[in-house]
Amino acid sequence: MTGKGLILVVEDNEANQMLVRAVLELEGYRVELAGSADEALEQLRDSPPDLILMDVQLPGEDGLSLTRRIKADPATCAIPVVALTAHAMTGDRELALNAGCAGYISKPIDTRTFGLQVTQYLVDNPNRGRVVAL
Ligand code: MN
Repeated sequence: MTGKGLILVVEDNEANQMLVRAVLELEGYRVELAGSADEALEQLRDSPPDLILMDVQLPGEDGLSLTRRIKADPATCAIPVVALTAHAMTGDRELALNAGCAGYISKPIDTRTFGLQVTQYLVDNPNRGRVVAL
């Protein structure tokens, strides 16, 4: 594998998609985008990522419901899911962790630290099957 890994970004907002992709690609990651739960499940089948960044608020099935499904499936349960949440409320963060997320990153993202935050979740994931180049 070349590069630092593949990240699936599940996010319906186009401006956020572009920003997150730009920052992650600058960090050396490959990025796949999905705008809905259905698109995300398709991507998961076609090219399993090393990490999933999950917008909580999606049209149709929301990000936490999708996370629970990913965590319930033996084929995808080892992939760390990090919630992207616009909510600063502690309760929402607990909901994300209860759904199976490894953690959360607040939106709007801080482009200076976002890459490092994402890398930390890859390094800290005890289930990761691949070596991550730092
Ligand atoms: Mn959204």
